[in-house]
Amino acid sequence: MKTGRLLLALTVASGCAATRLVAQPFQLPTANRALFEKGGEERFFVGTVGKPWTSGCFGCVRSDGWQMHEGLDIRCLQRDKRGEPTDPVMATADGTVAYINAKPSLSNFGIYIILRHSVDGLEIYSTYAHLREIRSDLRVGQAVKAGETIAIMGHTANTHEGISKERAHVHFELNLFINDRFPAWYKKMFPGQRNDHGAWNGQNLVGFDPRQVLLEEHSLGAKFNLLQVIRSQTELCRVVVRTTNFPWLKRYAALVRSNPKAEKEGVAGYEIALNFNALAFELVPRAASEIKGKAKFQLLSVNEAEQQRNPCRRLVTKRGARWELTSRGLNALELLTY
Ligand SMILES: [Zn+2]
Repeated sequence: MKTGRLLLALTVASGCAATRLVAQPFQLPTANRALFEKGGEERFFVGTVGKPWTSGCFGCVRSDGWQMHEGLDIRCLQRDKRGEPTDPVMATADGTVAYINAKPSLSNFGIYIILRHSVDGLEIYSTYAHLREIRSDLRVGQAVKAGETIAIMGHTANTHEGISKERAHVHFELNLFINDRFPAWYKKMFPGQRNDHGAWNGQNLVGFDPRQVLLEEHSLGAKFNLLQVIRSQTELCRVVVRTTNFPWLKRYAALVRSNPKAEKEGVAGYEIALNFNALAFELVPRAASEIKGKAKFQLLSVNEAEQQRNPCRRLVTKRGARWELTSRGLNALELLTY
């Protein structure tokens, strides 16, 4: 235990040197470690106003389960004399700076940073939002080490109600990147609407649960494998798309299964397993002879128990006895395969 504490102290103090000794890709993005303590949730998560800590978790945790929160809201530990947060925000893993939004008025994320990482062969992104200030020398493309300070915690946001300084937190996400052609897709889908962040629009990043990642890594140690976490997502539904060339296939080739029949006869489309957040975690190439309908997108099956547990993305709906993709579900597939 003592060694662990010392390592942590060194990590915080010197940035990267000590973290090299730890064979775990992801670290907590602030000094708040209550996530790993029994009953520490209250001291780790910040709930929304008047709601319990669970509303600061990832998932369908808001508006009675009908609103998605795509990251963790991590509680502030230290404040200055005026009560403003001063917690350093640290890179969760080795990576490079992918995007910086320094203008709080441009996003409900306020001031935020996105980092790019490569973990277990997967291109992963981490997002740190509602920041007070970004380290002044940080530039897009710059390399950062796990544990390196990149910003100071804050409560910036462009929302009407804002975030009070009492609720100051870092909103922390782990994401996969959906489509390089997002700006063109967005223009087509929402003509005339502003897109201030290009491909770094939040809609183009699909989150997975950082709490699960951090806890699994904490208990499994060197056995932790991110690919395993992504591959073992709970399936919400299974679809077939009649598209054979889209960026996800290359970027997340590790999620594509082999199918000798399609490889022999030619690939006519993909069967895709989606989790409740529309994360495509398994893709199987299909030959023309294996695809029945003519539609561009077809719903093959729905895991009703999962839809009941996590309905907030509203990807599918039941009409009479039949399940259908909703416009949101179709939109998610349009963007994935655009
Ligand atoms: Zn949040």
